[in-house]
Amino acid sequence: MDRLPPSLLTAEPPVAALTDGFGRAITYLRLSVTDHCNLRCLYCMGKEVKFLPKSEVLTLEEMDRLCSAFIHLGVRKIRLTGGEPLLRPGIDGLLGRLGEHLAAGRLDELTLTTNGTLLARHAPALVAAGVRRVNVSLDTLNAATFCHIAQQDGLAEVLDGIDAARAVGLAVRINVVALAGINDMEFDRLIQWCGTHDCDLAMIESMPLGGLENEHYLPLDMVRLRLSRRWTLTANPLKTGGPCEYWDVAETGRRIGFITPMSHAFCGSCNRVRVSCAGSLVTCLARHGGVDLRPLLRGSESNQGLEAAILAAIADKPASHRFASGGKEAAGQRMWQLGG
Ligand code: SAM
Ligand code: SF4
Repeated sequence: MDRLPPSLLTAEPPVAALTDGFGRAITYLRLSVTDHCNLRCLYCMGKEVKFLPKSEVLTLEEMDRLCSAFIHLGVRKIRLTGGEPLLRPGIDGLLGRLGEHLAAGRLDELTLTTNGTLLARHAPALVAAGVRRVNVSLDTLNAATFCHIAQQDGLAEVLDGIDAARAVGLAVRINVVALAGINDMEFDRLIQWCGTHDCDLAMIESMPLGGLENEHYLPLDMVRLRLSRRWTLTANPLKTGGPCEYWDVAETGRRIGFITPMSHAFCGSCNRVRVSCAGSLVTCLARHGGVDLRPLLRGSESNQGLEAAILAAIADKPASHRFASGGKEAAGQRMWQLGG
């Protein structure tokens, strides 16, 4: 997709800020643009994966229209994710199209989460679209451990991708899923590496959504305590509207964030919803199923029914997830299907 006809752009200003039944403003959409990935991370896909038939995956034009509808309803930030978003053919065109919303002031931020393997190729298109920062998943700096986690090689490509992103001026946050017995001995090295590569770092608690039974789960409170013996950590008041709590690392001058869905509920300030690449609107990571927006997109050229369905789903967003009490069975879908 290079250019879309201008008729699909939403000309009118947002109708209203989206608010759920608990008074939370929903301003952030995470859209999975594909369920495919070129890696097979243990905690995410595992080995056995069944991909959706192509006909069930939204076209880029449908995704563009969907984003326009969300923006019309008040969404101000969009993150493209997956699967691996940079694997989706035509992704640069979609980015360019969404970038028009940024340029017009209808959107505050366009960003993406990537495994970084294809980042070197796409970094210039990201900048051209108005993307300013990206999250890159990198759980290890050790090639053998990378191969163990991702179940294939790719570390060199990820490191090249990060360099290329930095070279074109993108801010990079490294996402590390904390895995006891797999990468926990590398956290100090990752902090140091982020310091020398001008990247912030976010540690993520593994959620029971993927191939692991969570036997490698590591509560981040413990990790932070351990790290604070070696690094001078000072709480940073910065909030990005997300669940990440940041700390300044005095020795590196960078920040480290902790995302703790398992040990702490951050649902009270949740501002986000997810749409899968098949058009399923998921208002909470731990809710089974979703609201199928695809028939509404395909059944009518008008966005009226689509926007009504989005509003109804958001009004019904649950107060909080139940990972900690419900364990694995509380989770209905996997990250690569939902869009992590
Ligand atoms: N492929 C891209 C990537 O890896 O960054 C984007 C999709 S991935 C599903 C998005 C994020 O979800 C990544 O940072 C990944 O580490 C995280 N993730 C996947 N499965 C997870 C799990 N079970 N628990 C915690 N984080 C997970
Ligand atoms: Fe692919 Fe990202 Fe899942 Fe890893 S975490 S398997 S890179 S979608």
